[in-house]
Amino acid sequence: MDIGRYKVTGRSPIHLDDFNTHETGSFTSNQDIRKAVEKNVLEMAQWQSKLYAEGKTGLLIIFQAMDAGGKDSAIKHVMSGVNPQGVEVYSFKQPSVEELSHDYMWRSFKALPPRGKIAIFNRSYYEDVLVVKVHKLYEQLNVPDRCKDADTIDKRYKHIRHFEEYLWDNGIITVKFFLHVSKDEQRERFLSRIKEKDKNWKFTKSDLDERSFWNDYQNAYQSAVNATATKISPWYIIPADKKWYSRAVVSQVLLHVLRDIHPQYPRVTQEQRKALSKYKEWLINEPLNKQ
Ligand code: AMP
Ligand code: MG
Repeated sequence: MDIGRYKVTGRSPIHLDDFNTHETGSFTSNQDIRKAVEKNVLEMAQWQSKLYAEGKTGLLIIFQAMDAGGKDSAIKHVMSGVNPQGVEVYSFKQPSVEELSHDYMWRSFKALPPRGKIAIFNRSYYEDVLVVKVHKLYEQLNVPDRCKDADTIDKRYKHIRHFEEYLWDNGIITVKFFLHVSKDEQRERFLSRIKEKDKNWKFTKSDLDERSFWNDYQNAYQSAVNATATKISPWYIIPADKKWYSRAVVSQVLLHVLRDIHPQYPRVTQEQRKALSKYKEWLINEPLNKQ
């Protein structure tokens, strides 16, 4: 699988229309690809264990998508093998009153991964240049006028670029996924959320309202990707009409990222090794506590 074609590093501007939503590479069904995904998930778990033990690098994984784009299921499947101790998932909803009284990055700062851990953002500070741009929500903020002028979104792109560079300089790597779903596929998924009782809870009228802004969102995504994709914090635009394919690509990308970080278990010094064999002797020679 060639993940390079989904990667955007900001070298030249991209058009979302050039990225199709339904391709499945050389695979025709989930059956074809399932084994590969399982293998990826297993190897990811091994790398994560080393990431945690080494404690040098943190990994921030961001998932963005239109509603019903498959963020939840991608997170669930791809992270299924990893040790829960080393991962936190945060879902960013409409900001609370407390969150709105702070700068927009505040809630993300609190959720950043420490070195050695993985944080998954289900939505993120990118909402502050997506939904906030589409509906000009920044105009409603209780802030000085200079903080909500026409340049607000452009300034935020700059903040985000600097923020991700700041993270990089602190040993935190950012990987960003846009699960790229078509408008027709979103309709199908909304319909199944309405038809299937167990999925009803996932559907709200506001999903339909937002759907009517489809083109504005696509433009906002395209601008955000172009303004914030860099070599150190690339975007991956993943074809997401077939969930099984998007999961496979996500797992492949994450595996690639972890291999690149290449964490290792801390080395044991000669002195520590000597001490360990002494402790081993102690334990072996300890009288058994017979009952
Ligand atoms: P869901 O992920 O379906 O539970 O929906 C969460 C909702 O919160 C989405 O409609 C997001 O657009 C919205 N949301 C997330 N972050 C923000 C934000 N900073 N400002 C406004 N709405 C947001
Ligand atoms: Mg929703």
